[in-house]
Amino acid sequence: MAWDFETEPDFQEKLDWAEEFVRREVEPLDLAFPDTAAPYDRRNPVYKKITDPLKAEVKKRGLWACHLGPELGGPGYGQVKLALLNEILGRSMWAPNVFGCQAPDSGNAEILAHYGTDEQKRKYLQPLLDGDIVSCFSMTEPQGGADPREFRCRAVRDGDAWVITGEKYFSSHADLAEFLIAMVITNPDVPVHQGASMFLVPRETPGLEIVRLAGLGTEPLGHGHHAYLRYDAVRVPRENLLGGEGQGFVIAQTRLGGGRIHHAMRTVATVREALRMMCERALSRRTQGGPLAEKQLAQQAIADSFIQLEQFRLLVLYAAWHIDKGHKDTARTYIAAVKVQTAEVLHDVVRRALHLHGALGCSNEMPLARMWMTVPVMGIADGPTEVHKVTVAKQVLKQHRAYEGLWPRDFLPTRVAEAQARFAAEIEREVGNL
Ligand SMILES: Cc1cc2nc3c(=O)[nH]c(=O)nc-3n(C[C@H](O)[C@H](O)[C@H](O)COP(=O)(O)OP(=O)(O)OC[C@H]3O[C@@H](n4cnc5c(N)ncnc54)[C@H](O)[C@@H]3O)c2cc1C
Repeated sequence: MAWDFETEPDFQEKLDWAEEFVRREVEPLDLAFPDTAAPYDRRNPVYKKITDPLKAEVKKRGLWACHLGPELGGPGYGQVKLALLNEILGRSMWAPNVFGCQAPDSGNAEILAHYGTDEQKRKYLQPLLDGDIVSCFSMTEPQGGADPREFRCRAVRDGDAWVITGEKYFSSHADLAEFLIAMVITNPDVPVHQGASMFLVPRETPGLEIVRLAGLGTEPLGHGHHAYLRYDAVRVPRENLLGGEGQGFVIAQTRLGGGRIHHAMRTVATVREALRMMCERALSRRTQGGPLAEKQLAQQAIADSFIQLEQFRLLVLYAAWHIDKGHKDTARTYIAAVKVQTAEVLHDVVRRALHLHGALGCSNEMPLARMWMTVPVMGIADGPTEVHKVTVAKQVLKQHRAYEGLWPRDFLPTRVAEAQARFAAEIEREVGNL
């Protein structure tokens, strides 16, 4: 029996440990240090003092950097097991950092491991994997968004160096990172999938300027960690090219697929928490002579949320399974489908949970409004919903053919006539003519 919904006992033990550890040791950090960038701040001695022992404990349990296979320096549990772990880590803003699998460092580590030279791995990957530094992925541009065909940021060769000039927007944690991976155009005369390249840019390189830091949603203007960057003739040595010249597009694809599904895995946790809060509130709050839980419309909100969550979770696990099996094409379709669902399920369930809590739900005294802010982010970051729907549709359409002739294959008059011709004798007998 190959279809199985059970977790191996050994790994279940690890999950049980992680469940308890995150609840007891990590979730309180979210409350004590709520700045969204705090988990990424490796220079803060207070955070370091608190998290170093926690990270050591995670490493001892074999749960550090679980997104990477053994050939890339991780334990190699695969994506299905990572999904089960992320369903726990997603409850806490700090947990991915404590477990060494936070975005965007997870994706950056993955491409460094895949495409980096030995020297690049020593200099950038190892400290990243050790959790000593954080990194930034610098791709999106202010005028052209994340569509590489619209990129203007250019790098040109100058002797033994590359010189990068242009602007990037929403380069998360550029202010905290030791280095950036910048995707820029190196040859504008060929299609972008051959004309873009990736560069490793140390944060302190002269000419790299943070023009502004943007925040999210209701964060006060001027606060935030998504950098608007200017590259003003930023000079990096030739050996800082990651992968080959012109390989930037392919490398970006390697990184974004993983990033998308990891967000989805963690979103399962957020949605579960929202549903838990909704149920507890429905059972506790009384109105018009009874608990909310007895009102059928409240029950509908709970039932719909449970069904959406379970469908979403299975889709995430199935996508993860396709990745583990090496089914590249199918994995691509399922990752895109999961990416779309992440924002939609989060939207529906968090909205219901927030609504069911009334004024309290709208307030800043529950985590629900903060969860609500993650809805638009999940619909935009790593590519907008529409783009992923197009991917799903194109992949699905590849499995079908146009029909020839005037009428569709399922046109009933033709099909009934064919069936009647095939069973002509039996039909005659049935109606008593034979
Ligand atoms: C929290 C957060 C963190 C981020 N971190 C990083 C980072 O670290 N590094 C980085 O480089 N980038 C980062 N980004 C940027 C992110 O990758 C882009 O925002 C995203 O890819 C979408 O690009 P855009 O914002 O330019 O939107 P656009 O591409 O302008 O899309 C805007 C809207 O246009 C419509 N649209 C776009 N394309 C299509 C289409 N093909 N068909 C139909 N409608 C369409 C959709 O409604 C879409 O929502 C981050 C974004 C967020 C929100």
